[in-house]
Amino acid sequence: ALTVRLDGVVKEYSTGEQPVRALDGIDLTVSGGQFVSLVAPSGAGKSTLLHMLGALDVPDAGTVVFDGIDITKLNDNEQSDFRRHRVGFVFQFFNLLPTMSAWENVAVPKLLDGIPMSKAKADAMRLLDMVGLSDRAEHRPAQLSGGQIQRVAIARALVMNPALIIADEPTGNLDSKTSHSVLDILADIAHDSDDTGAVVMATHDLEAARRTDRVISMLDGRIDTDVLSGQEV
Ligand code: ADP
Ligand code: ADP
Repeated sequence: ALTVRLDGVVKEYSTGEQPVRALDGIDLTVSGGQFVSLVAPSGAGKSTLLHMLGALDVPDAGTVVFDGIDITKLNDNEQSDFRRHRVGFVFQFFNLLPTMSAWENVAVPKLLDGIPMSKAKADAMRLLDMVGLSDRAEHRPAQLSGGQIQRVAIARALVMNPALIIADEPTGNLDSKTSHSVLDILADIAHDSDDTGAVVMATHDLEAARRTDRVISMLDGRIDTDVLSGQEV
């Protein structure tokens, strides 16, 4: 089963006169099978924490151990390889390539990995089917609704079969019906098979948080409360 463990994670940004401590000592273990939401006001450190989980950035102190490997100690190539194969990102501002169709967008990570086109396309089509978009496979992002784009982004995040899905405000621009179907897909991913996968989602949407197994609230770079299936952790 998957285990991702953060110990004493600190992250500071120094842009202005004074450094900002975005994460101020985070201790957290996420286990396979969990659908986790991070709920906090803007600026509390949610995105920074997601970046640490996905090796998009490294902490100033502390460790992030992903299935036994401290990803903060990897070199750039190893981190890039880790991001490509072990994590799937669903971020609002990391969107689809506008000149490509839905299936091509989903297939890109496989093509970059040297998988033959026919196989990559078959895999992409299977995932588009899973998110209910078989009939939109040839459409470009501009021809899709916000909810459809978000579902294509989920399909793309899944195509390398990653252990961890990291989602930042995945329901941010969606109406409640579409939000529901996006959350259904994320819940299915977390609850799929033998606890080999997990989903961590940052959200402002309390309805979305209610759909998860574990709700973690943050305040000023620290974990404030952590509630797993109704029990305080
Ligand atoms: P959230 O996702 O909860 O809104 P963030 O992790 O984005 O919080 O931000 C935490 C703090 O770190 C905020 O004070 C924010 O302004 C600051 N911050 C985040 N990213 C950067 C950056 N790249 N450069 C400087 N400050 C940053
Ligand atoms: P490379 O270093 O090989 O150019 P990256 O390491 O930048 O590739 O990207 C690897 C994967 O990590 C990408 O396929 C993408 O899914 C994800 N990724 C990279 N940067 C971001 C980002 N800023 N936001 C969301 N996902 C990202």
